[in-house]
Amino acid sequence: MRKGLLICFMIVLGIAWTTSGALAMEYVTIGTGGVTGVYYPTGGAISKLVNQKRREYGLRMTVESTGGSVFNVNALMNGDLELGVVQSDLQFQAYKGLGEWQGNPQEKLRAVFAIHPEAVTILAAVDANIHSVADLKGKIVNIGAPGSGQRVNAQDLFAAVGLKEADMQIEGIKPSESASLLQDGRIDAYFYTVGHPNGSIKEAVAGTRKVNFVPVAPEIVDKLCKDMPYYAPADIPVDAYPGVANKEDVPTFGVKATICSSADVPDEIIYSITKEVFENLDELRKLHPALKVLTRENMLQGLSAPIHPGAKKYYQEVGLL
Ligand code: GLU
Repeated sequence: MRKGLLICFMIVLGIAWTTSGALAMEYVTIGTGGVTGVYYPTGGAISKLVNQKRREYGLRMTVESTGGSVFNVNALMNGDLELGVVQSDLQFQAYKGLGEWQGNPQEKLRAVFAIHPEAVTILAAVDANIHSVADLKGKIVNIGAPGSGQRVNAQDLFAAVGLKEADMQIEGIKPSESASLLQDGRIDAYFYTVGHPNGSIKEAVAGTRKVNFVPVAPEIVDKLCKDMPYYAPADIPVDAYPGVANKEDVPTFGVKATICSSADVPDEIIYSITKEVFENLDELRKLHPALKVLTRENMLQGLSAPIHPGAKKYYQEVGLL
C-alpha cells in the first residue's frame, strides 16, 4: 500500500517536472535554404550551439530547409519562422520596399548578424560553350526557383547586360537538383548564389560532363555595384573544385549571407542566440569551410535593416557597438 502511494507520488512529480520544463521551453525555427547549400548546414551549426545550452536558455532550435532568402523574409514576416538566413541584398530590398517588395516595405524585418560571403555563381557545361554572360543566349538556364536568392541575382544580371528571359529557355528548379540536371544534359547552365567552398558545387564539377564557371566581366560587375550598392565584386576560388575547367579564380559579384529575425521575436531569445554564437565563434568557424572567414567585426557588416534589440544589447555589452 505504502509502496503504491510512493509510486503515485513519484509519477505526479515526474509529470509536473516534465510539463514545467516543456512550458518554459521556447521553440525557435531557423529557415535556411536547400539541403545541399551552405545555409542549411550553417543553420544546423547555430542550432547545435544553442541546443547544447537548451536548459540554461530555455530554448530549443530547429532547422528548416526552405526555398531560400526571399521565402525566408516572407516567412519571418508572417510569423512562420523566428530566424532566417537572408542575402544582404534582399535584406536591404525587403526593408526598403524594393524589388520583390516594391512599395511594400517589410518594416518589422530585423538584422541579427552577418555570416559568410556568397558569390553569384554560374556553372555551365563545357560543351555548351558559355564563356560570358552574353553566351547564355539560346541556352537552357536554371535561374533558381521562386523564393531563392539566385533567381533575383540572375534577373539583375540579365537586366545589366540587356538579356531578356525570352532569349533563353529559363528553368526555375531548386539547387539540390541542379548538379544532376547539368550532368544529365537537361540544362546547359545554372545560377547559385552560395558560399564557397561547398559540397554541392564540388559534386557538380566532379561528373563526367565537364563543367566551367562563367565569369562576369569587370565592366558588368562595376555597373551592378554602382547601380545597386548591396553588390560587391567577388571571386570564385577554383582550387576548391578539382575537375572544373577554369584555371584561375573566376570574377563575379556577390553579397553576404545574414541572419534576420522579426521585431515581434522577444529580445531575450535573440540575445541568447547572439551571445551563444559570438562566444563560440571558434567552434562555428570549424563547422563549415565557408564559415572560416567569420570574425566578430565582419559579422556586423552588411546589415541594412535595424539590428534586433536583443542582438544590440549583446553588442553593446561587449563593446562591439
Ligand atoms: N543564397 C541562396 C538563397 O538565398 C541560398 C544559398 C544556400 O543555401 O547556401 O536562396
